[in-house]
Amino acid sequence: MKKCETVVIGAGLAGLAAAESLDSAGVDVTVLEAAPFPGGRAWSEPYQGYLLEAGPHTFRGQSDALWGLIDRLGLSDEVETMDGRAGRYVMRDSRLFRVPSGPVEFLLSGLFSAQGKWAALRGLFKAGDPTDRSVAQWMDRRFGTEIRRTLVDPVVGGIFASDSTHLDMSRAFPKVWHRTGASGRLIPAIFGKSAPSTERSGVYALRGGFGQLVSAVAERLGTRMRLAEAVEKIQAIPEGGFRVVSKTGGIFATAQLVVATEVGGLKQLLPSLLPDSAEPVGRLQCVPVATVSLGGPSPSPLPEGFGALLPRDQGFRMLGAIHVSSLVPERAPAGHWLATAYLGGLHDPDILELTDAQLLETTTRELSRIAGSTLEISMGRVHRHQWGIPQPNLDSLDALEALNDLVRPYPGLNLAGSYLGGVSVEMAVRSGVEAADKVLQDLSA
Ligand SMILES: Cc1cc2nc3c(=O)[nH]c(=O)nc-3n(C[C@H](O)[C@H](O)[C@H](O)COP(=O)(O)OP(=O)(O)OC[C@H]3O[C@@H](n4cnc5c(N)ncnc54)[C@H](O)[C@@H]3O)c2cc1C
Repeated sequence: MKKCETVVIGAGLAGLAAAESLDSAGVDVTVLEAAPFPGGRAWSEPYQGYLLEAGPHTFRGQSDALWGLIDRLGLSDEVETMDGRAGRYVMRDSRLFRVPSGPVEFLLSGLFSAQGKWAALRGLFKAGDPTDRSVAQWMDRRFGTEIRRTLVDPVVGGIFASDSTHLDMSRAFPKVWHRTGASGRLIPAIFGKSAPSTERSGVYALRGGFGQLVSAVAERLGTRMRLAEAVEKIQAIPEGGFRVVSKTGGIFATAQLVVATEVGGLKQLLPSLLPDSAEPVGRLQCVPVATVSLGGPSPSPLPEGFGALLPRDQGFRMLGAIHVSSLVPERAPAGHWLATAYLGGLHDPDILELTDAQLLETTTRELSRIAGSTLEISMGRVHRHQWGIPQPNLDSLDALEALNDLVRPYPGLNLAGSYLGGVSVEMAVRSGVEAADKVLQDLSA
């Protein structure tokens, strides 16, 4: 049995952020990761001259925790700012429309009818209703169904691979919710006084992909990160602390544990320590997603900009596609384009049963449909995420509160991961840093 000061289970961004914070504070940390490589959903793969992202491509500048991690790893100069105005497109009636980025563009846009625009303008002044909890209810009451179906639903499909009728507004769009609640009006919230913020607006990417950040943490941890070391169970030690048992027979004893797995790992592991956790953890929903990266000689099938969102009623299996080579041209060889499409989610849960060939064929066909001609594809690659996107659905807050109530009384037990506070990279990192802070508090008590 190996005695460890702290153990982190899972080397996704949450686990890596926790481990790096602990290491920076001079605490000895052992990381146990089931996969043969670190990063979890966030990893980058050089492939046939392209640099592919298996999962996330970009991050928002809204978390000090992520900027702190980037700074400490010496990667600040590697951050590229995506042009905040890079066009986003949405499909309607077999045409791509640019998503308006301001009031004038909105009024001139052909994406919405005159009635839809009028309803949206009136919605800025309308109060909501205390019973509005889902994203769909919140949006419909203010802006009408046209805006929700045409714009909000595709955005929700692109971010959460989900449906606005299932998502909890307070968890899916917490900033808007905190300013207005269920019933507040938007205009006073927009122009009212807000707390001073250190947030940087905009969207960013690392030049070498998220793999650059993952490798930097992995290098720092060296042999303290144990890959292909899947944890099988966690047991409580009667005198205090935990015994972590891996499938390869490793046993690690520690007083401070951070469980930083995705929802799938949590379902498998936590009930071995806390049998009552099986019920709330079972209620945490997570949907599968496949990413399909395609590349070929220019011209690109997508307009310059961020990419395209594809509403379900437009007859696509793709939820959307990022125009990677438009955002970061160095990710594709000269004279070539690169796009990464997302498929799967709440309404397409069997997506991972498709073979790579089927996924490549579907995506090529649908991108060709967008381009209006058959595409010449010279590179295709599939990545799969069984536990792709945790769902901030209407039941998730209750489930998380029940879970926290079970974990809180256990000294030294901490959870981290993007299912807790928000699905994004920055929220995953923040959850890891917060878990590390709790460990540091315990150790100094
Ligand atoms: C396709 C896709 C695109 C995305 N795009 C974006 C984006 O552009 N921007 C953005 O902000 N966010 C994006 N996200 C979300 C972002 O990727 C996640 O928020 C983040 O990567 C989650 O990190 P995590 O550490 O919580 O979980 P994970 O990355 O899932 O890490 C969990 C780790 O735990 C390990 N593990 C599980 N069980 C065990 C066990 N028993 N023993 C040991 N290890 C175990 C797993 O192998 C894994 O490495 C995207 C997600 C997906 C799937």
